[in-house]
Amino acid sequence: MAYLDTRLFINGTWRDAADGRSLAVLNPANGQEIGRVAHASRGDLDAALAAAQRGFEVWRDFTPAARSKIMRQAAQFMRERADTIARLLTQEQGKPLIEAKGEAMAAADIIDWFAEEGFRVYGRVVPHRSNPSVRQTVVKDPVGPVAAFTPWNFPINQVVRKIAAGLAAGCSLIVKAPEETPASPAELIRAFQDAGLPEGVLNLVFGDPAEISEYLIASPIIRKITFTGSTPVGKLLAGLAGRHMKRVSMELGGHAPVIICEDADIALAVKTVGAAKFRNAGQVCISPTRFLVHNSVKDRFAQSLAELAKGIAVGDGLAEGTQMGPLANERRLTAMAEFQEDAVARGAALLAGGGRIGETGNFWAPTVLSDVPLDARLFNDEPFGPVAGVRGFDKLEEAIAEANRLSFGLAGYAFTGSLANVDLLTRRVEVGMLWVNTGAAASAELPFGGIKDSGYGTEGGPEAMDNYLNTRSVVVANG
Ligand code: NAD
Repeated sequence: MAYLDTRLFINGTWRDAADGRSLAVLNPANGQEIGRVAHASRGDLDAALAAAQRGFEVWRDFTPAARSKIMRQAAQFMRERADTIARLLTQEQGKPLIEAKGEAMAAADIIDWFAEEGFRVYGRVVPHRSNPSVRQTVVKDPVGPVAAFTPWNFPINQVVRKIAAGLAAGCSLIVKAPEETPASPAELIRAFQDAGLPEGVLNLVFGDPAEISEYLIASPIIRKITFTGSTPVGKLLAGLAGRHMKRVSMELGGHAPVIICEDADIALAVKTVGAAKFRNAGQVCISPTRFLVHNSVKDRFAQSLAELAKGIAVGDGLAEGTQMGPLANERRLTAMAEFQEDAVARGAALLAGGGRIGETGNFWAPTVLSDVPLDARLFNDEPFGPVAGVRGFDKLEEAIAEANRLSFGLAGYAFTGSLANVDLLTRRVEVGMLWVNTGAAASAELPFGGIKDSGYGTEGGPEAMDNYLNTRSVVVANG
């Protein structure tokens, strides 16, 4: 499929922005404009709000079985269309085709899992303290229309986690998807449309993110906000939501520590988290970023990681054999240059990569820096790119203290052969997700989310449903 212009989806129909505005969509592999995306204004947002309210009134009364049937059909469409959708995703975001197809297929799995989980939204019957004929029940019902804000690094995945849980719970949604990568999330929405989702239950808008979030969060129709993106924006939106007493879940930035102990399997560590570092060109919230390695194995690990980085085939994501595509936007190129220059100026050793590749497209060479000082920006701000920083430690407690030093608490990794170390790491590393002796595998059935400044409200597992449900008690006395 050729790359298409993306329109707004409001009340079951695709439409241009009421005032005809649109934004350019660029291919990050060559900087060329490949299409346009409609830019919503207030009138469009009002139409989306009214539609979401009507959609909610219809969808909340669908049984879990009826919701599940439509959701499973949407999942099936995602599988059948994965090749086509992957090409759109690669053209607008840059990731290699194989990763793009994986994202479309994973979306189908997530939808299927939540379609089942919708059956398990149970209430409770609680015995009364003195009168057995008084029936005390706890009921759970959908929170109402949701406003969902999602970023450009996983344009499908970040949307599907929100809509699958929200729809399974009986909510309607207005999704503000990323303007830079609009076509692939639009195809996800189309899968639900084609599966027979009633009008107004899912709505899709694009435009000015700050204008849209401010307007939707303040609207009395919206009952819940969910956001994936950077911590500063997350804090801003959580503040706005607080002002209007709206339910919130936030999946924010991370700066994942990787603790590699002296007894670790170094080859396994390089193969799993080393490779994961460069997936999606490092633009992953759970990307391994701070490699903390026992001094007895540090140089061996750093050299192996540098070899791996040098061997990565960087190119257009559509080309056969590409292992890492361009950065998704030009801003990230500037950010990478700043991270690297700062680290080197402070004494870090450059072992691999270190610079832009070519003059066209946002290509950055997979980069490994060793002996990164703690005051380097790379060890403080989320790099969100293909730059790995390594530093040594002598005692595990030191590494754990470094892992916890930052305000982030999203993902963490560790490699060790010792059960005692695993126990200490499990208890002490302050992250929402810890992977030991393995890379990350995020599945629908496992909680996905952070603690501390990385946010709250998980996006996986049964707990993800709670974000979209009200819990109420109803007590009935029978005379
Ligand atoms: P940014 O902070 O400007 O934007 C991040 C996301 O938030 C984008 O999708 C953007 O459209 C959205 N956004 C920005 N202001 C908003 C507002 N007022 N209301 C609603 N949405 C708003 O940064 P960026 O340059 O697009 O991305 C770079 C940084 O974002 C990275 O350093 C990384 O920390 C973070 N990020 C995190 C994730 C994640 O998965 N957690 C994804 C993408 C970006």
